[in-house]
Parts: sequence; structure tokens; C-alpha cells
Amino acid sequence: MRKETRVTHQPEVELPPGNEPVIAPIHRSVKFTYPTIEESLGAEARAHGFEYMRDSNPTTRQLELLAAELQDRNDAIAVATGMAAVWLSLLGNVQTGDRVVLFVESYRPTRVAIRRFLPRFGIAHTMLSIHDHDAIERELARDDTKLLMFEAPTNPMLHVPDVAALCAMARRHGVVTVLDNTFAGLHNHGGFDVDYYVHSLTKYAGGHGDAMGGIVIGDEKRIRAIRPQAVNLGATMDPGVSYLMLRGLKTYYLRYRCHSDNALAIAEFLSKRPEVEKVYYPGLPEDPGHALAKRQMHDFGGVVSFDLAADKARTWAFIDALELFATTASLGSVDSLVAPVQLYLGSDLSKDELGRAGIGESTVRLAVGIEHVDDLIADLTQALEKTFG
Ligand SMILES: *Cc1c(COP(=O)(O)O)cnc(C)c1O
Repeated sequence: MRKETRVTHQPEVELPPGNEPVIAPIHRSVKFTYPTIEESLGAEARAHGFEYMRDSNPTTRQLELLAAELQDRNDAIAVATGMAAVWLSLLGNVQTGDRVVLFVESYRPTRVAIRRFLPRFGIAHTMLSIHDHDAIERELARDDTKLLMFEAPTNPMLHVPDVAALCAMARRHGVVTVLDNTFAGLHNHGGFDVDYYVHSLTKYAGGHGDAMGGIVIGDEKRIRAIRPQAVNLGATMDPGVSYLMLRGLKTYYLRYRCHSDNALAIAEFLSKRPEVEKVYYPGLPEDPGHALAKRQMHDFGGVVSFDLAADKARTWAFIDALELFATTASLGSVDSLVAPVQLYLGSDLSKDELGRAGIGESTVRLAVGIEHVDDLIADLTQALEKTFG
């Protein structure tokens, strides 16, 4: 073999029998092959073999199986971003003439997908409040309603929907449920009668703000039904990213617990400050969603929102005065972040809709990291004093 050929047909390093790596390798190969066409068509190859990365990849498959198990289901499809997961759950389940029910309290890009882009394909929607069970029941009862998209707790205002009640209503009317469970995390809400869970793995699963990913999780039959759509859509997760997600998940429980503990301490701190009008965090006993969240969830996560007793200029000045909280979107990474809610997460809503969503010009969202909580509280204190002092 000439060296020009050798560089593309490189030596293979096989591990001796019994000699196993402790960490699974990253399978970077786009293509997988068999010695003969006959073998590639065998039952074992068809059931468990790999062919092309857009269909499947062993590293990404490892992530899918782990995430599904954490969410108490048995199958999943990992994709390139959380929004790709939202889109897959929609495209896999609705068609022209159908209607989607969504909530004014939901994540802005999801509202944009359903309100701005789905109508192009002749798919209608109804946007309600997540607490208005009468209206939800009425819309789910319509013949054309096929899918209910909701979050628990909601991004950005931490509303806590009654997951069991929403699922029961949807089931009664034969409507598919999609729960964007990004805020609650993979370890919460697994016991409910949800058809598809969607997560942005960019957040708590990856956990370090250095990789984007999303996943749709459900029972095998439901996932099998949408996999051809996923493969054809092509929003495939890169196996290097799958590896980062698998590594992130090793510390997932430690991080989520620390995010939750820090967020609760900060919510308690904020609720005692005169500069703060209202705190939104389901971990606080006085929060309207507390009792329900306590029944539904093990812990309450790292996001805290609040209204300052201030106008927009002073609210922005407060955000700018924070030193440990970076001003940016996103959440669930080790470092703390802060967002002006109306600007970042409410720009598609009318004045009336902002009111219904409970978003004002002084609303601030903190994505609390895993730093020492005393430093975070000291930073919030100095920013409050600097801005209001
Ligand atoms: C971030 C987020 C998404 C989108 O995830 P990306 O990975 O940014 O595409 C979807 N839903 C919720 C609730 C989110 O917070």
C-alpha cells in the first residue's frame, strides 16, 4: 500500500479482550459499514446496526438511552438544539388543518414557532393562560385540536401548571401532550401521563454553557413514529456534543441540587428587600405555585424572577450593576446569568399579552449558578444599594 493510500486507510488499534476503556469513546464516524452487503441486511444489523450519522450514532444513542431513563421513558431522539426538539415534536404530530394549544406564559421562541411559522403550513393555534382550565378544556374539545404544548414551570415567570390535570384533559380529548420540561429537568415529572417530553439539553444537562442540544423523549412507540421525520429533518446532534452532554450528566444531580439551593436562598433574600415588589419562585412557601410544585417536583430549579419597585431605566441600571451575573439569555449553566425579561423574552407579545403573562418593564430573571451563594447575595446587595441608594 502506498503512503498516499495509507493516510486514508490507517492502522487500526484494537483493544485486547477484557481491556476496556473506563469512558466510552466518541464515535465520530459519519458512516458505518459491514464486510458484505448480505450482513448489512441481516436482522441484527437492521435492528441494532448503524449506517449513517443522520439516522443514528453510538455516542448519541448512549445519550438518548440515558436521558430517556432519567425521564422514566424508554426511548428518545437527540437533536441539535432545544428549538429543534420543539420543532420535531410539532412536525411529528400535526398537519395542515390541525390546531395547537399553547400558553401565553411560555418560552418566546416556542410561541414564535407556533404563532408565526406554523400558520404557513395551515396549522392554527389558540393561546391561553396555563391556569384557565375552562378555556383549555373547551379548546381541547375542538375537533381540530391535536397537540397541547406546555412548560412546567414556565419560562420566564415560573408559573406552575397542574400537570396531571392538563394531561387528563388532553387524554380525554385524544390530544397529544408535549411537555417542555427544560426548567424542571430530566429527573422531574416522569410519573405523569405525558406523551412527549422536550428538553433543551443546552441548559441543565450540558450544564457548562459550552454546547447546544435538545431531545424529545417518550415511549418507544411514540418515538418510533417521529424518528423518520427527525432523520429527514437533519437537525442531528454531533457526537462530540453528545459526549459533552454525557459528561455533563455525570454531575447533573449535584449541579441541579446546588442550583436549587442557591436559588431558594436568593429568592428568600429578595423577598425581604424593600426594593423588590414581588418574587416568582415555586420553592417559596408564599408562591401561588408552591403547593402544586411540591407535589409534582423533587426540587425547584435555578431560575428566580422578580419585579423591582422601579421603572425600566432603573431596572436596567440594576442589571448593569451586577458583577457576578452576566447579562444574557439562557440558564442552567454553572455560572450565574441575568436577563431583562420584557426585552429578551417578551418582545413578541402585545401590551395585553404581556399583562396576561405577568411580565412588566421591571421584571428581572436570574439564572442562578453554582457559585458560593454568599458571593451572589453580596453582589445582589451591592447592585440594589448602588441603584436605589
Ligand atoms: C432554552 C429553552 C429552549 C430552547 O433551547 P435551545 O437549546 O436554546 O434551542 C426551549 N424551551 C425552554 C423552556 C428553554 O428554556
